[in-house]
Amino acid sequence: MVLLVTGKCGHNCYYCPLSLKKQGKPDTYANEKLVQSDDDIIFEAESIEARGTGITGGDPFLAMKQTIHFIELLKGHFGTKHNIHLYIATPDLKKISQLAEAGLDEIRFHPPPEDWPILENTKFSEAISHARNLGLRTGIEIPCIPGKEKEMVILAKSAELAGAEFINLNELEFSESNWQELKTHGFQVKDDISSSVKGSQEAAGKVAKALKGRRIIVHYCSSSFKDATQLRNRIIRRAKNTATKLEIITEEGTFIKGVIETKKPREILKLLKIDYMVPSELVRHDVDKSRIEIAAWILEDLPVLSNCEYFIVEEYPTADRLEVEKRPAN
Ligand code: SF4
Repeated sequence: MVLLVTGKCGHNCYYCPLSLKKQGKPDTYANEKLVQSDDDIIFEAESIEARGTGITGGDPFLAMKQTIHFIELLKGHFGTKHNIHLYIATPDLKKISQLAEAGLDEIRFHPPPEDWPILENTKFSEAISHARNLGLRTGIEIPCIPGKEKEMVILAKSAELAGAEFINLNELEFSESNWQELKTHGFQVKDDISSSVKGSQEAAGKVAKALKGRRIIVHYCSSSFKDATQLRNRIIRRAKNTATKLEIITEEGTFIKGVIETKKPREILKLLKIDYMVPSELVRHDVDKSRIEIAAWILEDLPVLSNCEYFIVEEYPTADRLEVEKRPAN
């Protein structure tokens, strides 16, 4: 599970991929779910059968109380085997100690690009050693910026010297929030079907080659792996665990359902249940979207009720219920 503790951050990375909805806001999200209580976090983790949690931001150090609370909550509910790692761009030794005390398993430092060639002269070097001494798995996680291969290799070597066990290179990606900045820095998309930055993958290959034989482990995570494998698996698990009887689950893990749009949803719901004897578990009033949701196979057999529009909708089983397709059913 990805737990975004806060969207607030004092850093100003030009490639920041955080969505405009979350950037600078104090809200907490468990995957796509806006967190309003501890139960929301537990529900989301259970619905995707999470074996671990990645705590991120913004800057989680700006919300220390919540970050500590969430680590204790997850460890308390799921046990010590629930692995928790944290991404952080601030090398604050005292806060690292507090998180280790709360039960954190792993820390991934994100130094800004200007620190990559001079890591040993920054606080990050000390923070890495400190985290290792506290027993945390410790590494570096950065976007893989084409043209910065030399700096990334120097960074990895200095981090290794300080005690880091791994360096994670994430394929640099265009997002709605960094599009303009990445363009200004001269980057282009890899191809028409992806949002990855051209040359990022090749840069990772060069860095890995230059570090071959060293103790530090190099991981590379492509955006297609994140989307096609990690996200897809999470979505399929969430669909399986949150589907009600009226949803059909597709192979991709999306839901297919019937939708009735009407200005009088309460009256139509009553009519469907009483006059058309639709079982309660196959029809409901979706208050959030102000519509009736009904099993698609029932909708297809229903006569058209006056002042109602019928649709077949495909949507993600995520908390934000992103709609993939909506087509008229009559
Ligand atoms: S530290 Fe992370 S959240 Fe903050 S600006 Fe940089 S990329 Fe964005």
